[in-house]
Amino acid sequence: MEKLVSLAKRRGFVFQSSEIYGGLGSVWDYGPLGVELKKNIKERWWRSMVHDREDIEGLDAAILMHPKVWEASGHVSGFTDPLVDCKHCKNRFRADDPRIKGTPGEPTAQCPVCGSKGTLTAPRMFNLMFKTFMGPVEEAAAVVYLRPETAQGIYVNYLNVLQSSRQKIPFGIAQIGKAFRNEITPGNFIFRTREFEQMEMQFFVKPGTDLEWFEFWRQERMKWFAGLGVHADKLRFHQHTKEELAHYAKDAYDIQYDFPFGWQEFEGIHNRTNFDLSRHQEFSGKKLEYLDVATNERFIPYVVETSAGADRTTLVVMVDAYHEEEVEGEKRVVLRLHPAIAPLKAAVFPLVNKDGMPELARRIFDDLRKRYNTFYDDGGSIGRRYRRQDEAGTPFGITIDGQSTQDGSVTVRDRDTLQQVRIAADRLAGYVAERIV
Ligand code: ATP
Repeated sequence: MEKLVSLAKRRGFVFQSSEIYGGLGSVWDYGPLGVELKKNIKERWWRSMVHDREDIEGLDAAILMHPKVWEASGHVSGFTDPLVDCKHCKNRFRADDPRIKGTPGEPTAQCPVCGSKGTLTAPRMFNLMFKTFMGPVEEAAAVVYLRPETAQGIYVNYLNVLQSSRQKIPFGIAQIGKAFRNEITPGNFIFRTREFEQMEMQFFVKPGTDLEWFEFWRQERMKWFAGLGVHADKLRFHQHTKEELAHYAKDAYDIQYDFPFGWQEFEGIHNRTNFDLSRHQEFSGKKLEYLDVATNERFIPYVVETSAGADRTTLVVMVDAYHEEEVEGEKRVVLRLHPAIAPLKAAVFPLVNKDGMPELARRIFDDLRKRYNTFYDDGGSIGRRYRRQDEAGTPFGITIDGQSTQDGSVTVRDRDTLQQVRIAADRLAGYVAERIV
């Protein structure tokens, strides 16, 4: 992981937030390459979920919502972790921290940091939602929360979308957006952070058809990750046990990846029954039933949810793509990112900065970047320029040499096979297009 974190910084994928001030705990910023990578992942998700399907609509709901939303959803009372404090060293831990010896609150319990005995408090509940105030007065009546998930914005807009889009059940609503959780044990780079992005889709179905749709979405989501080029042997499903299952959920699977720190979830597929809509109906007093005009039946739809983290997915593809290998006696670090999500699709290099090569290279670059995010690099030896792009995950390196100025041909180096082919410069855009789908 340290190697990936260092590459991420070196090449401008991810930086620590407010680094010049010493950083802010578990908050990260995406640099020039990282923002492109994450954007490409989100766009690919949006295309497959919203544009490729007639039965899913998009939504972008606000982060701030009516505080009652979080009472109805159960987050005000239930979104809590039990925590213990050490009265001696002032550190705070999750009550189930495996490093704690003994039962917190009892005289024999031992603090895992300072080693003091009997200084750990009994567990206290701690809400993971960030609180703030709306308007100028900081009083209880003005409390609002930063949303801890995007899903609730979808539920409260369910009727609006249904009526305005003229969809019929079964149909879904998809949303990509920021979520915030005051996590107690964040860490592992961008895996668990306090500010993150989710890509969520809620699919509304007739009760009784939920099992079928749950199975459908479970398979679809796994296929989507395979389509990103993630190694199949590093992906698996984990079905929630009875203890793990949320009280309202009928069934839930995580899609897990074999990270350097173990198998961990990065997407959840949940059968949430009619819990959310029923609760919003109860708390808002607004009827959220669906009328099936064909059968004249009224029901509150069941919801099958697919909930992925955009940052965790970014981490998955970076970890999965990271390779170190030896090429002609030299170490090479390469990010074998799927070309469709690679931040840069191509880099253009004049072999030397003379003999008409830079002028031609610039023309080729200007042409190519109209269609693809392309990089121009004329600094240092060609080998070093290739290596920088290998680390950036750029699939194609285009070199303009002496022959290019004679016959208009260029060489294209493939990041993964290292093979070079010579093609006419005016075929470049087509060449790249064929290889990035
Ligand atoms: P975990 O237990 O690993 O924190 P969770 O079970 O609380 O995750 P969900 O509430 O199901 O996660 O959220 C759905 C997805 O949102 C997760 O699979 C993950 O990709 C992403 N996610 C949740 N919390 C975070 C976080 N703190 N940082 C980054 N991504 C997150």
